[in-house]
Amino acid sequence: MRLLQKCCLAAVAMALFSTGCQAQVEQSTQPNIVLFLVDDMGWQDTSLAFTDEPTPFNRHFKTPNMELMAAQGVRFTQAYSHAVCSPSRVSMMTGQNPTRHHVSNWTRLPGEDHSGKWGPNGAPTHWRTEGLQPSDVTLPKLLQQSGYYTMHVGKAHFGALGTKGGEPRNLGFDVNVAGHSAGAPASYWGEKNFGNDMPVIDGYPQGVPGLTEYHQKAVHLTDVLTQRAKQEITKATKTGKPFFLNMAHYAVHTPIESHQRFMHEYTGKTYAGTDIDIPDIEEKYASLVQGMDASLGDLMTHLKALGVADNTLVIFTSDNGGLSGHTRQTTPRGTELNSHNWPLNSGKGSAFEGGTRVPYIVSWVNNAPKLAQQKRLAITPNSVSRQQIIIEDLFPTILAVANSNAKIPKQHILDGIDVTKHWQNPSSEQTRAMVFHYPHVWGPFGPGYEPHSAMRLGDWKVIYYYNSRAWQLYNIKDDLSERYDLAPTHRSKLEAMAGDLNQRLKQMDVQWPVNRVTGKVEPIMLPHY
Ligand code: CA
Repeated sequence: MRLLQKCCLAAVAMALFSTGCQAQVEQSTQPNIVLFLVDDMGWQDTSLAFTDEPTPFNRHFKTPNMELMAAQGVRFTQAYSHAVCSPSRVSMMTGQNPTRHHVSNWTRLPGEDHSGKWGPNGAPTHWRTEGLQPSDVTLPKLLQQSGYYTMHVGKAHFGALGTKGGEPRNLGFDVNVAGHSAGAPASYWGEKNFGNDMPVIDGYPQGVPGLTEYHQKAVHLTDVLTQRAKQEITKATKTGKPFFLNMAHYAVHTPIESHQRFMHEYTGKTYAGTDIDIPDIEEKYASLVQGMDASLGDLMTHLKALGVADNTLVIFTSDNGGLSGHTRQTTPRGTELNSHNWPLNSGKGSAFEGGTRVPYIVSWVNNAPKLAQQKRLAITPNSVSRQQIIIEDLFPTILAVANSNAKIPKQHILDGIDVTKHWQNPSSEQTRAMVFHYPHVWGPFGPGYEPHSAMRLGDWKVIYYYNSRAWQLYNIKDDLSERYDLAPTHRSKLEAMAGDLNQRLKQMDVQWPVNRVTGKVEPIMLPHY
C-alpha cells in the first residue's frame, strides 16, 4: 500500500514535472509581443535623442517612458517607415515593400484615388485603392497559425471603407478595438463621442467605432485605448496562449487636439532654453506626444503587474515621419513648416529623411537575461544601433521572435529581413538596400512632396523625382539634412545607384506614375550625361 502510494506520488510528480517542463519550453520559445505603433510620430518628437547630441526638440518634448525603454533596450537611429500611413501599415502586415504590395498611397474609399492633383504626373492606374484584403498573407494570420492570440487596438487603416479589409478581424486579428478603415479620428475627445456625431465628409466617416461607454465623458482617446488594451491583455493572459498586440495609437495624427492632463506642462511657456513662446498648436501637439508616452508606461506597468514582464517584448516605432507640411507652427528653433524634424529635412509625405525616418526602440518589459526566452532573443541594455532597418522588417522579425513554424506561401515574396541579431549585437552592421516608392502627390507643395522613388544604400541616398525627371544624390552620413546634392559631382556613384534602384523597382513589379495629359506611364529616366 505504502509502495503503491509512493509510486502514485512519483507518477503525479513526474506528470507535474513534465507539464512544468512543457510549459517552460512553450514559454521560453514564444514570448508575448507588443508592437507599439505610433501614428505620424517624427524622429524628433521625443526627449530621447536619436542623434549624437540632444536637439532643441529633445529638450521640448517629454517622453520619459521611451527613455526608460531605451535604457533597458536598444534604440535604432536609422529606422525607416514609408512616407504615409497605409503603405507602411501594409508593409508591416505583409513584409513587402509598397513597390510590391501596391498599396502605395493612403486608402479611403475603394476605387477612389485621393492623391494630390497638381503637377504633370498622377497616381498609377491600378494601385490597390481597396488596401489590404483577407486574401492577402498577413503577419497576424501567421501568428495565429503559430499559436498566438492576436489583438489590434487603435488605428488600423489597412483596407478601404466598405471592404472586408476595413475590419482587422478579417485580416488575422482575434480582437479589434476601435480600428476601421479611417486614417484619423474625427475627434480624440469623449465629450465629442470621438467624432461619431460630426458631419461625414465625402462619404467617409471618421468617428472612432465602438467605445460608446466612454461617450460624453471627459476622456482622451489615447487613455481610453490604453485602458481597453489593458483589459484585452488581461484576457489574453488567461487564454493559455502567447499574445501579439498591435497597439496602434491614433495619436499623434491630426486633428491636433489637446491631451488635457498634460497641457499644463506647455501652456503659457516658452520652448526650453529659449524665449520663443510655444504656439497653441505646438502645446497641443506636445500634449498628444506625452499622452502617447504615458500609454507606453501604463502598458509596461500593467504587464509587470500581471507577472508577464519577463516574457513580453515591446517594439516601439512610428508609421511615417512627423507632419510638417501643414497645420504645425513655430519650432523650438524659431523655424516654420518643413522643419519639425530637424536636423532631418521636411516631413511626412516627403522623399527626404524627415518623411520616413522614425524612432525605433526594442526591449523586454523587464530584463531577466538568464531566462531561456531572453537568452534566445538577447537585447543589449542601453545600447544604440546604426543598422538601417525598415518597417517591412517587422514581419520576418516578429515571426522570428514568435519562433513561428507557420508556412509562408512560396509566391509571397518577402522584402523585409529579420533584424533580431542586431538587438544582441548593436555594433554589428550589415549593408542592405532600402527602397522607397511613392508615385503620388501627397498634398502640399514643399520639399520632396511629389511623386518619387528613392533608395538608401550604405551612407548614400539617391532620389528620383518623376515630375522634373531629376536625380539627387546625398551622403547621409556627412549630410544628414540633405543640403548638398552631389548628383552633379559624383556621376559614377549616381549612375550606379540610379541603375540599381531602377532594377530593384522593376523586380518588385513597380507601378509607375501616369501622365495626367497623355495617360501614359512615366517610368524612371536614368541619368545621362
Ligand atoms: Ca501615419
